[in-house]
Amino acid sequence: MTQVRDRDVLTLPRVPVIPLTDGIGRRFEYLRLSLTDVCNFRCSYCLPDGYRKQCGKPQELSVAEIERAVRAFASLGLWKVRLTGGEPTIRPDFEEVARAVSSVPGIRQVAMTTNGYRLAERASVWRDAGVSAINISVDSLDPARFAEITGHDRLAEVMAGIDAAQAAGFERIKLNAVLMGGVNDDELDSMTSFVVERDLSLRFIEVMRTNDNAEFFAARHVPGIGVVQRLEAAGWQRLPRAPGSGPAVEFGHARARGRIGIIAPYAKDFCASCNRLRLGSDGKFHLCLFGDGGFDLRDLLQADHQHDELISRIAGLTMGKTPGHRLHHGDSGATPHLASIGG
Ligand code: SAM
Ligand code: SF4
Repeated sequence: MTQVRDRDVLTLPRVPVIPLTDGIGRRFEYLRLSLTDVCNFRCSYCLPDGYRKQCGKPQELSVAEIERAVRAFASLGLWKVRLTGGEPTIRPDFEEVARAVSSVPGIRQVAMTTNGYRLAERASVWRDAGVSAINISVDSLDPARFAEITGHDRLAEVMAGIDAAQAAGFERIKLNAVLMGGVNDDELDSMTSFVVERDLSLRFIEVMRTNDNAEFFAARHVPGIGVVQRLEAAGWQRLPRAPGSGPAVEFGHARARGRIGIIAPYAKDFCASCNRLRLGSDGKFHLCLFGDGGFDLRDLLQADHQHDELISRIAGLTMGKTPGHRLHHGDSGATPHLASIGG
């Protein structure tokens, strides 16, 4: 592979912002950037046997490659970047990546998704590095259950991390809970109460089928509509979509400080509001979480003068984004698990 060269950002060509759309007029403003496939947790729906290094897997993108990619997406009007993985904070240069991404002109919000294992100790460092929004995965508020789901008896640490994130002044804090029938679907009330007093947004995510979890999915998938019905019965009301928000449906309640969202990828029209694109830690561009393996951008991330060619390739590929996933037909594309692509 070509050597990544030192660069001077001031030499970059000045390219006007061109809004990025696909063939059916969906506009893209949001990039999910996976920093690594590696994870230390063993979530039962994602990496039940833990992370296993794949033979021949290319090295993760360097900070310079990431910065060039984000610059190109920003030239195409994307203003929000989420750092995800695998577990993004496993990367020793995580703070450097966050600083580089948040310094790219046009990027107005850098968010991250984490399992929270380093959050209590690092929250203020990440905030200072430019991350303003954080999603923390908490699938259960019961310590034994949390340990069973993730393979780590660390609920107390993650909860301390949530307090640390609030103290560090993150503008948006969301808790992600994957909804699993017979595992945590009896926790709706306790989870809902948790956000009544706190300025947090809780997201229930329907478990998604990937190549590796077909059996788990068949046993545990429950539709998010059940949560919606229970919330509405308890007086929660649907909120209007905020700019840059994805396909989540959000609810608020007059007596609650926090909000609750549902991400239901199997719901009708879920893909119609898809506003996200993904870049894998190996430089593959993914138009859909459940697509067919992605398109390589890495050869155009090697030098600043490739910027124009890079944006043309991104714009051309995006035109070919399919209108919807094929999950309903049992086809989850080439994605083995979401850790491999950045969920
Ligand atoms: N390791 C970090 C974490 O867990 O927050 C970031 C990466 S993880 C792939 C991102 C999100 O995807 C997490 O909220 C996780 O719970 C969710 N996720 C992973 N696999 C999933 C699946 N099969 N269905 C639904 N959500 C999934
Ligand atoms: Fe790791 Fe996140 Fe997957 Fe859990 S969901 S195994 S924390 S990547």
